[in-house]
Amino acid sequence: MPPNNILEGPKVAPWTCPSCREAVPRLLPNGQRNRIRLDSAQMRLPVPAIEAAANRVPGPRASEVCFPCSEAYRELLGTLIRPPGEDGDARGGPGLNDTGIVGALLPIAGRGTRVLIFHVVNGVLQDTEIEDLRRLNPDRLTYPGTRGAIAPPLWAIYEQHLAQLHATTPPEGSPPPK
Ligand SMILES: [Zn+2]
Repeated sequence: MPPNNILEGPKVAPWTCPSCREAVPRLLPNGQRNRIRLDSAQMRLPVPAIEAAANRVPGPRASEVCFPCSEAYRELLGTLIRPPGEDGDARGGPGLNDTGIVGALLPIAGRGTRVLIFHVVNGVLQDTEIEDLRRLNPDRLTYPGTRGAIAPPLWAIYEQHLAQLHATTPPEGSPPPK
């Protein structure tokens, strides 16, 4: 018997996040839902070649992921990424610049999140890698300027992504809305 000045706490049932595939609590410690619904803007950049490549990935899509996974989506979508191993151009194909971009993240039910990485090959944007989110090496993420060799069409996509981000985020130091 617990002492009578202690309430029995809430019991929070777990569910399996389709992205990390772990059993996670339905609620966060602060009481908010730990199931975040994703819309397409959170899963892929609005570029026709990226949308087409995302549509070619087979498997049923999950619609909700856990909060930490949704944060990983925010962090990764539109991020510049360098080749695995940092040995210059890992694929060596002609016209392939070695800085790529994370163009899409897709939660595939029962199989985890697929991260789609794009490069420009001979002037054409192509999905060059599909990586499991749990296996993606975060050291590969990079800032513009820390490394050269970025194809102009890819840079244009990155700039458009930045412009959209800053159009929807109020500038720092702006007064709160009344
Ligand atoms: Zn998760």
